[in-house]
Amino acid sequence: MDLQDKETTCGEILPVVIIGNGPSGICLSYLLSGYTPYLSPEGWHPNPLLHSKLAEQPHLSLLEQDLEYLCEGLEGRSSNPVAVLFDSLLLPDSDFGLDHTSPLEWRYEPERAIPHLVLGKGPPGGAWHV
Ligand SMILES: Cc1cc2nc3c(=O)[nH]c(=O)nc-3n(C[C@H](O)[C@H](O)[C@H](O)COP(=O)(O)OP(=O)(O)OC[C@H]3O[C@@H](n4cnc5c(N)ncnc54)[C@H](O)[C@@H]3O)c2cc1C
Repeated sequence: MDLQDKETTCGEILPVVIIGNGPSGICLSYLLSGYTPYLSPEGWHPNPLLHSKLAEQPHLSLLEQDLEYLCEGLEGRSSNPVAVLFDSLLLPDSDFGLDHTSPLEWRYEPERAIPHLVLGKGPPGGAWHV
C-alpha cells in the first residue's frame, strides 16, 4: 500500500493511519471508531478524589475533559499519566488484587468516528502474544 497517499484499495482517503496493532493501536482504533467513555450514571470509583473529579462534569465524555487535572496524584505502573488514568478507570485497584467494576460506560457515537487504518507486522495484540 502507498502510505504517502494514505489511500485504501477502494480509493478512500484516510485522515489517520495508526502504525502498530498492539494494545495501544487497538485502543486508539476503538476510540476513533466512535466509542466514547463517560462516567456511568451508577459509576463509582474507589479513589474518592478521582471520583469527585469525575462527578463534576458527568455529561462530558472523558475525551472532552481536562485529562491533566484528572491524572493529578494518580500512581501506577506506567510513566504515562493518561495510561495510569485509563488503567485506573478500566480496572480500579486491580494491582491490589481487587475486583471493582469500572465506573465508565462506553457510548457508541458514530458522529465522532474518524476513518482510519491500523497497520501491523503480525496478528493484533502486540506484546500480549508473548
Ligand atoms: C512480560 C510482560 C508482561 C506484561 N503483563 C501485563 C499485564 O499483565 N497487564 C497489562 O495490562 N500489561 C502488561 N504488560 C504491558 C503490556 O504488554 C504493554 O503495555 C502493551 O503491550 C503496550 O502496547 P503497545 O501497543 O504500546 O505496544 P506493543 O504491545 O509492543 O505493540 C506494538 C505492535 O506494533 C507493531 N509494530 C511496531 N512497529 C511497527 C511498524 N513500523 N509497522 C507495523 N507494525 C509495527 C509491533 O510488531 C507490535 O505488534 C506486560 C508487558 C510485558 C513485557
